[in-house]
Amino acid sequence: MHSEFEKLAREAAAANEGYEQYLLRLTELEVAARASNAVQARIRQAGFPAPKDFDTFDFTAVPSLSKPKMLELARGEWIDQRANVCLLGSPGTGKTHCAVALGLAACRLGKRVRFFTAAALVTRLEEAQKQYQLDRLLAHLDKTDLLICDELGYLSFSRAGAELLFQVFADRYERRSLLVTSNLAFSEWGQVFQGERMTAALLDRLTHRCHIFEMNSESFRFRESMKNKKAKKGE
Ligand code: ADP
Ligand code: MG
Repeated sequence: MHSEFEKLAREAAAANEGYEQYLLRLTELEVAARASNAVQARIRQAGFPAPKDFDTFDFTAVPSLSKPKMLELARGEWIDQRANVCLLGSPGTGKTHCAVALGLAACRLGKRVRFFTAAALVTRLEEAQKQYQLDRLLAHLDKTDLLICDELGYLSFSRAGAELLFQVFADRYERRSLLVTSNLAFSEWGQVFQGERMTAALLDRLTHRCHIFEMNSESFRFRESMKNKKAKKGE
C-alpha cells in the first residue's frame, strides 16, 4: 500500500473516483501482493530441486499416464482428503517432474509442502535423532500438508534409518498426505525397508487411500539425448 498509494491516488483523481473506490483498489492491491508473497514463500519452504510444472510436461511421451487424472490431482482435493500418491516407474519417466508439479500446485492452493529425496530425509532423521532433535523434526514434518519423498529405492537404508522413515510414513496415515516416487515395484520394497513385516505394514497404510500411477515408458532423458545426437549428425 505504501509503494502504490500515491500513484493510485493520482489515477483516482484523474478518473474522478471517490474515496471509497480508491481505498478499495488500494486494499485489493495489498491483498493480492500478500497472497502472491505467501505462495512464493511456501514454494521456497518446500525445497523443490528444480521448478517443473505441468505446462512443460509432454503427456504424449508417457501414454500410460492419464493426463486428466493428473490434472485433477493438481486441484488438490486429494490433499484435503489426506490421500496419497505413488508414482512408480523406471528412471527418466518423469516421476520427479510430476511430483514437483503436484507440489507446486499444492503450494498455490495454500498447502504447506516439503520435498525430500528419500535418502536426504533419512539422513535428516538420523541426524536429528543423534542431536536429540528428532521430536522437533517430526513435529515440523507433521505440520506439512504434503510430504514428498522422491527416489525411494535407489539407496537402501540401515535398519534404524528404515525404521525412522517408517515412523514418518505411519504417523501421516489418514492425517496428512504423502507423495512417494520409486523405481521399484511394490513387491520390491522389502529391499529398502528390510524386513517383510515392516514393508507389509507400510504398504498397507500407504496404499490404503492412494492414487497410483505406473509411468513406464522409454526414458525421456534418453530419448532427448538420442534426438540431439541425431540432430547433430544431420548437420
Ligand atoms: P524420473 O524422476 O522418473 O527419473 P525426471 O522427472 O527427473 O524422471 O525426468 C528426467 C528429465 O526429463 C527431467 O528434466 C524432466 O523434466 C524431463 N521429462 C521427463 N519426462 C518428461 C515429459 N513427459 N515431458 C517433458 N519433460 C520430461
Ligand atoms: Mg527422479
